[in-house]
Formats: sequence, structure tokens, C-alpha cells
Amino acid sequence: MLKNDMLEQWDRENFFHPSTHLAQHARGESPTRVIKTAKGSHITDRDGNELLDAFAGLYCVNVGYGRTEIAEAIAEQAHELAYYHSYVGHGTEASITLSKMILDRAPDGMSKVYFGLGGSDANETNVKLIWYYNNILGRPEKKKIISRWRGYHGSGLVTGSLTGLELFHKKFDLPLAQVVHTDAPYYYRRPDANMSEAEFTAHLVGELEALIEREGADTIAAFIGEPVLGTGGIVPPPEGYWAAVQEVLNKHDILLVADEVVTGFGRLGSMFGSVHYGMKPDLITIAKGLTSAYAPLSGSIVGDKMWKVLEQGTDENGPIGHGWTYSAHPIGAAAGIANLKLIDDLKLIENASDVGGYLNAQMKAALGDHPKVGDIRGEGMLCAVELVEDRDGRTPFDPSRKVVPTIVGDMVKAGVIARAMPQGDIIGFAPPFCLTREEADKVVGVTADAIKANLG
Ligand code: PMP
Repeated sequence: MLKNDMLEQWDRENFFHPSTHLAQHARGESPTRVIKTAKGSHITDRDGNELLDAFAGLYCVNVGYGRTEIAEAIAEQAHELAYYHSYVGHGTEASITLSKMILDRAPDGMSKVYFGLGGSDANETNVKLIWYYNNILGRPEKKKIISRWRGYHGSGLVTGSLTGLELFHKKFDLPLAQVVHTDAPYYYRRPDANMSEAEFTAHLVGELEALIEREGADTIAAFIGEPVLGTGGIVPPPEGYWAAVQEVLNKHDILLVADEVVTGFGRLGSMFGSVHYGMKPDLITIAKGLTSAYAPLSGSIVGDKMWKVLEQGTDENGPIGHGWTYSAHPIGAAAGIANLKLIDDLKLIENASDVGGYLNAQMKAALGDHPKVGDIRGEGMLCAVELVEDRDGRTPFDPSRKVVPTIVGDMVKAGVIARAMPQGDIIGFAPPFCLTREEADKVVGVTADAIKANLG
């Protein structure tokens, strides 16, 4: 490794970074961070700085870094069979085995898994399957998808439309007309501070009913939601939310897509968020935690009700016209198998629940009374600290002050990576499931120090 090599210049000259301020980066105003190695919950950059990664990459390296079991499974698969496709009934031992392992773990009522590469394309698949389903049922008008403001479902055309964050729409001509948004189940930002959680849930359900009424239930095909809002601010739902939403959807024959890209395979301390909250999805999106990001792989788990109609559709119309070259890529599948085994063998979901609970409790103990901390919330191995200018008014900071980016930057200098969530003054935490209590203490200590250094 050479510090003065050309890497930084090549980066600025050649590399189009996703979700990055392009002009600032090209001008050298934002750092090029080159990560070299990683082990457990820690990553090391090429200058030798070790950082505790309290966001597990992009909440995806759930089993932690440097797992030789997964690396070896990938290498073995690459030697034996690096690729074969899965069109017209083809498969590999790895892809078939993984589909069985996923269905064994999935909630009741699930029938098959369709493999993709990332969360965005899996949600793209979901929308196509929903449209196909309603066309086969002879309801060509029933096509709109309801998503929530602050939901995150990807960056594609339809998935970027489902995503309810302004940055993902602005100047991209999104959202597309088939997507409509309803309010986020964000209790801290409830319209009236005196509302109880149950009252807020009733309010949200009223808004949802009104939206369905306005659009017409016969035009609405599905509702998509993350069990816990992730990128939109790490927000667990208010009391009774999913049961109440489910009731409305059932009444209007609207499908439910549980986007479990973040929550699937253990992040909430349960195998699936759908089970955690008693949701009854027709489709479940999985990605990140399926392979812990050791290889790209995603999936749409299709429920029995839809599966029967999809089969009927192919009897009537021929093979389904939907496939990716890399669907069920054997290297991703091999990584997935090894990853799910590790999660079981090391009881990592239990650890996510235990140490995640500890992290949340310690964060509240350290910062719950701070005058600039408005809310501390989380579930399992997810935690968020929301900062406010004024606690009583729940007043956000002036964005030009860049309060959270500055604090998160200071935390990196102190050895901990957290995420400045893209909308609002929110610091997000989503560590690997193998986090220890000592590491959780370090995360809390560094966060508290950085907040106090910046905000008193
Ligand atoms: N759904 C959710 C809930 C996500 O958090 C993400 C990614 N953060 C996606 C979908 C999109 O996944 P990807 O970036 O792999 O396309």
C-alpha cells in the first residue's frame, strides 16, 4: 500500500460514486475513503485506521466481516461452477438448496422464492408480479401501489418512485403515476404532541382509508412497507399499526408487500419483521442479510395466493416473461447458504436481540435527558438518535448547519462509523449482529461525546 499512489486521483477522475455529491467529490472537497480489510465489527482503511462499523456497511454485513466460512463457500462454488443460469427450469445445487433454506425460515403461507441481485430489482420484480397477477385476474385497472413517505424501496424507476424521500425523486421525474404515498408511521413526528400511539395509529389508518377512497379501491393493487422504516429514519411502528393496516388492506383486496431488505434474517431479533409484527404479507423482499453482503443476492418470496395465479397465468400465456441473467447466481447462493448456517450456528439472532436491546438501553441512559436529543428509538439491532434544536417544539436544526454530518464526522475521527440518515437530524446505528456489549459501550460513548462536543 502506498499513500501517495494514484488511487485518490483515479477515484476522482473515473469513479461515479452512488449517493454522493458529485461536484464536491470531483473537486476533492469530500474524502476518498479506501477500505482495505475488515474483521468482526471493524473495518480498516488503507492508512491503517481501524473503525468500529456501527452501520454494518449499509446495514448488510449482518454476520460481521471476515467470515472465512462464507469466503470458502464462495471459493468452492467458483471452482466447481461459477455460473449457470436458472431459465427454463435450470438450477444449481446451491440455488435450489438456498431456496429451500429460505422457505424453511419464511413466515407461513409463502410458496416460492424468485432470486435477484439487490433490493431494488427484487422490488421491481414484486411490482411486475403484482401487475401480472391483477391482469390474470381480469382487473387491469387495479395497478397502483401505495407506499409511505420516508419508505425506502430502491433507486430504480418504479422502486425510486416507491421510495418516499424527496432526494430520490427530485430532478428524476419521479414518482411515476402508478405510485401514491401515504403518511409515515413516525410517532415522534405525529401531528399533535398529545396523541397517544394508539390514537396516532388510528389517525394513520384514517389517512390510508381516505387515500383509498380518493383513488378508488379498484385502482389499488398493493401496499408496500418496511416493518420498521429504515433509511427514512429508523422508525419502529406505533402500537397496533400493522394489524390495523392489514385490516384495511384485507377489506379492499389490496396485497401487502413486506420489504424486509433490512429486517429479514434477524435484524429485529426475529427471523423476519413480518413475524415480529404479525404482518401477513403476500410478497416479502429480501436482500442484504440473505448473504450478509458477501455476494450480491436478493429475492422476492411469493405467497401461496399469488403463486396460484402466477401458475394460472403461465398456463394461459406461456412462460413468465421476467428473468435476469444473474437470477439465482450460484456464487451468491453459496454465500447465502453459508451465511444462514452461520446465523444459526452462532445464534446471531439471539445476540442481535440481546446486544441490540443493550445498545438501545445504554443510548437512552447516556443521552435520554440531553436537551438537544428529541428521540431515541430502535428495535433489535437498530437504533436512532434524533436531534432537535428545541425539545419542546421538536424543532429541526437549520440544515445549513449540517449538525448531524458534523457529529458523524467527529465520530469517525473517534473510531466509530454511524450514519447521517438522509432526511432529518437523525444518527442511525445498525451494527453487525456479532457486536459485543463492550463494542456497544464504545458506540454509545463516542456518540455521547460527539453530541456534547457539538451541542453542549
Ligand atoms: N428496500 C429496503 C428496505 C432497503 O433498505 C434498500 C437498500 N437500502 C432497498 C430496498 C434497495 O436495495 P438495493 O440498494 O440493494 O437495491
